[in-house]
Amino acid sequence: MSKALFIVDVQNDFTEGGALGVEGGDAVAERITAFLTTHAEEYAVIVASRDWHDAENDNGGHFHPEPDFRDTWPVHCVSGTAGAEYDPALDTGAVTHHVKKGQGMPAYSLFEGTTDEGVTVAHLLDEHGVIDVDVAGIATDHCVRASALDAIEHGRRVRVLTDLIAGVAPESSDAALAELAHAGAELVESGTTTGAATGHE
Ligand SMILES: [Zn+2]
Repeated sequence: MSKALFIVDVQNDFTEGGALGVEGGDAVAERITAFLTTHAEEYAVIVASRDWHDAENDNGGHFHPEPDFRDTWPVHCVSGTAGAEYDPALDTGAVTHHVKKGQGMPAYSLFEGTTDEGVTVAHLLDEHGVIDVDVAGIATDHCVRASALDAIEHGRRVRVLTDLIAGVAPESSDAALAELAHAGAELVESGTTTGAATGHE
């Protein structure tokens, strides 16, 4: 049985000082890096996603001059800009697959992304026989939520690593975690994952 780790959108525009920086984003980047130093070998697949929008259009209404911060947003993660790069505190050395999403359209789930070779996340999980998916990253109430729900939808057992996520707003983040738990995700702290029954053989 194989496990995968999703590292969702740990990018400069989503951490402190970024266009859509969330509180605690830098700390999440640091904690994921620390987690990887001791846990990376447990995962057959480690997928990191980047929101990666077009500069020359509003990406299907995703960018808006008067954003509501639910369905419309300020300009963020424009391809090729510093804001779209991984937060420097995230060490991506252990990442096995990088996916980009949102080119010309809104894309909240990491499953909407592809590698530069056009491979989908669903294909990667099937190819590696992944049963269990752990989810970390930003933002709890948007892309982490959508990615975890999609993983459940794709028939995987999902754990959300609650100390390795950060959200846009406390209320919507709490609601997202409640929704994920109801949908069947396990909410666990990363420090408690060692030696899990679902670990590698
Ligand atoms: Zn976006």
